[in-house]
Amino acid sequence: MGQRMTTAHIPGSGNNLDQWYGHYAARTAGLAASEVRALFAVASRPEVVSLAGGMPFVSALPKELISGAIERVMATRGAVALQYGSGQGMPALREQILEVMALEGIRAGVDDLVVTTGSQHALELVTKLFINPGDVVLAEGPSYVTAITVFKSFQADIKHVAMDEFGLIPEALRESITQIKAAGKTIKFLYTVPTFSNPTGITLTWERRLEVLEICRSNGILVLEDNPYGLLYFEGQPPHAMRSVEEDGVVYLGTFSKTLAPGFRVGWALAPHAIREKLILANEAAVLSPSSFTQHVISEYLDSADWKGQIETFRGVYRERRDAMLAALGDYLPDLSWTTPAGGFYVWVTLPDNIDAKSMLPRAVKELVAYTPGTAFYADGSGRNKLRLAFCYPTPDFIREGIRRLSTVINGEREL
Ligand code: PMP
Repeated sequence: MGQRMTTAHIPGSGNNLDQWYGHYAARTAGLAASEVRALFAVASRPEVVSLAGGMPFVSALPKELISGAIERVMATRGAVALQYGSGQGMPALREQILEVMALEGIRAGVDDLVVTTGSQHALELVTKLFINPGDVVLAEGPSYVTAITVFKSFQADIKHVAMDEFGLIPEALRESITQIKAAGKTIKFLYTVPTFSNPTGITLTWERRLEVLEICRSNGILVLEDNPYGLLYFEGQPPHAMRSVEEDGVVYLGTFSKTLAPGFRVGWALAPHAIREKLILANEAAVLSPSSFTQHVISEYLDSADWKGQIETFRGVYRERRDAMLAALGDYLPDLSWTTPAGGFYVWVTLPDNIDAKSMLPRAVKELVAYTPGTAFYADGSGRNKLRLAFCYPTPDFIREGIRRLSTVINGEREL
């Protein structure tokens, strides 16, 4: 015990009841449970309308499509599907992923891809390759909560770049780069979800995509384009992926989690040659090979099912839910402002300045509605009067009831 006591205290790395307190690596200081995670336990009670988590509505996927694919995999190549596979991912699936990405204007070769355990793991691997403690990650503000957790876990210095209704603001990006460079710090990459962002639902315009790419190119900054929602559009196709115009300076992340199902845990990274070689080695070091079984099942599904039709079905489901949420916000909370997403899962709401979404949450849960407070999506404590509402999982009726309950809570808060 004496030896452990001499180890410097690392904030957030344990407590006095933990006998290994003081032994954890410094990087664990960034591993605080996210606000979303703490919420899941409460929000999963059936009487709570959860507008908190971004769970895809997998029930819209006919079960037979998947069970049929599993049976055919087992009948025709069971031994291979149950075996270890390649650290880069299954070649046939990588071919099919090229077809998926072509829908967003991306052209690439089958060797340019690495299959990962969800795009979450790709985020972790890319961060592991690039970030030394103190390196700067530029991240649009607000940013996907679990990307922030990954960056923190590698002790990145996260600097947010402001967004408006057209996405990341190029001028803010320029200013931020100038300031950080003047302070002598190294910027390793820009993290962005340019299409139907999590948490705002906002899409970066085509003109700004080009401008952001140009700014990053001229400053030697890699772009990490995370695109889980691009194919879930409600009003016609969004602008093509940033990777469709720039190959050398972009690492693109994709996933089957939203267009098929997250339980498979299959995503991918598309990266320039040198980065991709390192990604494969890092993938092998972490998991040997991504799950052979789920890759085979997805590959079989893509071969045999009308997967584009299934994505269209998902679009219809989510469009209806988005409409229900926007209508309910208009009816119950007309004086607030919120984003109008043209795809994806989320609406971002701005509360009156004096309302703190995080401290309001226990009252909301008492009223049987849950959401994610805005501060979860910033590394610097911003977003106090913001909240994220997810419309992907509850039915339209529940969404309406959830917003009604939320309006009671917010209106009660105004009177305090
Ligand atoms: N990026 C973003 C922006 C997300 O919203 C999510 C899932 N919520 C992920 C990455 C991770 O997805 P997965 O690991 O399931 O592919």
